[in-house]
Formats: sequence, structure tokens, C-alpha cells
Amino acid sequence: MSAMKPQEDADSYYRASCRYRIDARPLRGARRADVAVIGGGITGVSAALHLAERGAEVAVLEARDFGWGASGRSGGQILAGFSIDQRKLEKLVGEARARELWEHSLAALDLTRRRIAEARIECDLAENYVHAAVRESQARDLREWAEHLSARYGYELQYLEREQLREIVASELYSGGVFDRRSGHLHPLNYCLGLAQAAQRAGASLHNASAVREVRESSSETTLRTDGGSLRCGQVIYACNAYLGNLQPRLEKMIMPVGTYIIATEPLAPARADALIANRAAVADTNLVLDYYRLSADHRMLFGGRVNYSGWAPRNLERPLRRRMLRVFPQLAGARVDFAWGGKVAITRNRAPHIGSFGARNWFAHGFSGQGMSLSGYAGGLLADAVMGETARLECFRAIPHRAFPGGRALRAPALVAEMAWRRLADRFA
Ligand SMILES: Cc1cc2nc3c(=O)[nH]c(=O)nc-3n(C[C@H](O)[C@H](O)[C@H](O)COP(=O)(O)OP(=O)(O)OC[C@H]3O[C@@H](n4cnc5c(N)ncnc54)[C@H](O)[C@@H]3O)c2cc1C
Repeated sequence: MSAMKPQEDADSYYRASCRYRIDARPLRGARRADVAVIGGGITGVSAALHLAERGAEVAVLEARDFGWGASGRSGGQILAGFSIDQRKLEKLVGEARARELWEHSLAALDLTRRRIAEARIECDLAENYVHAAVRESQARDLREWAEHLSARYGYELQYLEREQLREIVASELYSGGVFDRRSGHLHPLNYCLGLAQAAQRAGASLHNASAVREVRESSSETTLRTDGGSLRCGQVIYACNAYLGNLQPRLEKMIMPVGTYIIATEPLAPARADALIANRAAVADTNLVLDYYRLSADHRMLFGGRVNYSGWAPRNLERPLRRRMLRVFPQLAGARVDFAWGGKVAITRNRAPHIGSFGARNWFAHGFSGQGMSLSGYAGGLLADAVMGETARLECFRAIPHRAFPGGRALRAPALVAEMAWRRLADRFA
């Protein structure tokens, strides 16, 4: 049981059920590549895979181990759309652009499934997703959202009345929900490492324990320095997401790292697991600080929730999460919790992903705002295309206006805490 360890060192269920070993080595000495990717999560390894397939010489530098960040800790839900409500996105970028972006989110789901099939990645891919509303007002909003997506985008979702929802999710908590058969879930670490292996097979060099400490640009190339070596390259992709730190301040100020946590119960008897979520859908509620959960392939309840804006990991993750789980499923009162862990998501101010470039040779994708499982792989491919000179998809994402968090490093977290407290209050009384 790992509940008392710091969130980043806790043994997750994913580590314990990991099927892949990556044969990576730390960067040593002076090397060169066409493209350097900083960060070995899904964004980074997907970019490397796409680039290697297109014949580029690409090296990925990962500070710890591949999949060590959010990609190996995630709830694993692969969802259509974005963390920002599609209706808000329309207001931000206009209807035509919002429609293109929506299509990209569906293409991201397709790409995820294609990559898994092509590389035969063993990551327990499963279909179905339920978006559940706790209060009546939230259920009404969810119904309007589903109608909007159907009318404007032709995206079919099934609205579930309280009783219909209960037939799928055995909880008394919800007033209504929406069933989405195109979204689903997977084992995020195995998916990430399966992609990393595919990138390696395609010719990418993978370096673990190779934190980039310094970036130096000259007129013709960039040099990245790690503790053990240096890498000269023509182009750089930043794929560090919430773990970027102060490596690139112009990117760091655009995101806020937020902690989120998951527990995994012991394996349940299959029939008991089926009785909790009949179609094995991934589930998330519509609260601002949401509960998200699903059953694993070996019949555990993986229950996520809680957020932490301070950057300090809570000392005991298990107790509050268990309480939240029992609020949804009191039936699980006797179930043992085997794992508790956490990780960081990077949120942007408007909760839309931040994808773009700066200078002549730098590309980035981050700020998926808690919804990056399928988008991050897509963003990696999109950046790879941009590096190769095809920027149409990048331009679409670049049309989303983003603003820096106010207040610099020291004031960002308190400002966000105040904003979230206010929004939570508004949420409660909506
Ligand atoms: C607990 C949790 C639950 C989540 N649940 C869901 C979900 O259910 N559905 C969903 O869609 N999304 C979810 N997310 C979000 C999703 O996991 C992320 O959006 C996605 O994994 C981001 O991938 P990434 O590759 O961009 O970043 P990461 O996977 O975080 O990878 C970034 C990597 O960069 C490395 N790095 C940082 N700095 C350096 C440096 N200087 N040098 C070298 N390497 C560096 C880090 O070590 C890290 O491995 C969740 C996230 C968390 C933490």
C-alpha cells in the first residue's frame, strides 16, 4: 500500500501491471539529431513515432522514465472533445473553427485506436463513456449540451434519465447522464510505452534519465544540455506538459500544474464489478472538481478525483478518495484499496489545449487541462507534421486565443485557488 508516499513516487496500479520495458539509455557525450523531443509522455513519443516514420532522425530526452508523467498515471479515459465546453469554444474561435477542432478531437480518438491496432499495443482498450450529472440543473445542462452536439455536429449521444443511468451505473447519486459509445478508456502507461516502443522500432532514439537543464540557441541550431551529454538539433519539440518547470518561461506562464489523484481497489469478483458499471464504461461527473472512474481489465475500481493547486502532495491520498468513492458506490465499503497515486495535469486559463510554435525552430503542445489522453498523441503527430512543413492542423489549434496566468510563479496558484473556490460555490448553487 503506497498511500503515504509522495504522489510522484507512489506505486501506481499501472506500474504494477505494466507490460512493457523500454530499452532506453541516458544521453552521454555530444550527439546530433534533426529533431529533439523533450518529454517522454504520450505527446513526446507520438511525435517521435510520426517523425521517425517520416524519415527524420529524432531523439527523445526524458527526465525520468518514459511514461513517468501524467501519461503513465492518468485516468485513461479517451474522450471526444476538449476540457473546455464546445459551446464556449464556439464563442472563442467562431463556429467554423470550433467545428474543425471538434473533428480533430474525433480524429484523435481514431488515431489512438489506429496506433493501438497497428503496433498491437496491449493496453486494455475498452469502449463506452458516461458523463453523469449529480444535480438536476447539471442534468438539464448535459441534455442541452448533447442536443447541441447532435444538432450542430451530428455527434450522436444518448441522454439517460435517472433510471436509465442507474441501469448502467449502480449509484443513487446521479440525476441524469449522457452515454457516448465513441469514447472509452485504456491502460495509459501500457499505451504510452507501447507507443514508445513503436517509435524506437521506427528508428527514434530514446533517452531516459536525461533531464534537459539548458537550451542554447544559435542562428543555425539548438543545443540541449543534460547532466551527461548534449544534443545539437535543428528543431525542438517541447512535450513536458505540467512537468515543464522553468525550462521555458514563455510556455510555463501559460499553464498551471494541478495535482489529481486515483485509488485502485483490490480486484473485485467479475460479477460484482459488472454490477457496478454494467457496460464497463468510463464515467465522469460534471462537477468542477470531478470524480472520474472506471473498471480495470482485472476488475478493480480505479477511482479518481480531488485536485490540489498548491503543488504539495496531500499526505494521505487514500482516505478522502475512498470517501468520495463510497459516496458514489456505498456497495464498495468492504473493498480493500491496493494503490493510491497522483500526478499533475496542466491547465490553461480557458481549458483549451495550447499547441503552437515560437521562434523559427520550437514547437510545443501542452495544457490539455485534464483531457489529453487521446489529444496528446494527436498533438504529437500534428507537431511532427508541422516540423516537416505541413502546418494546416497546427494553424487550426493556433487560432485558439490563450492568455498567461496572471501574477507570475508565486501568485499563480493562490489566484487560481481563489477563482476555483468561487466557481465551486457558483457550481454548488447553480
Ligand atoms: C491523475 C491523472 C488523471 C488523468 N486522467 C485523464 C483522463 O482520464 N483522461 C484524459 O484525457 N486525460 C487525463 N489526464 C491528463 C492526461 O494524462 C495528460 O493530458 C497527458 O498524459 C499529457 O501527456 P504529455 O505527454 O503531454 O505529458 P506527460 O505525460 O506529463 O509527460 C511529460 C514528460 O516530460 C518530462 N519532462 C519534463 N521536463 C523535462 C525536461 N526538462 N527534460 C526532459 N524531460 C522532461 C516529464 O518527466 C514527463 O515524463 C490525467 C492526468 C493525471 C495526472
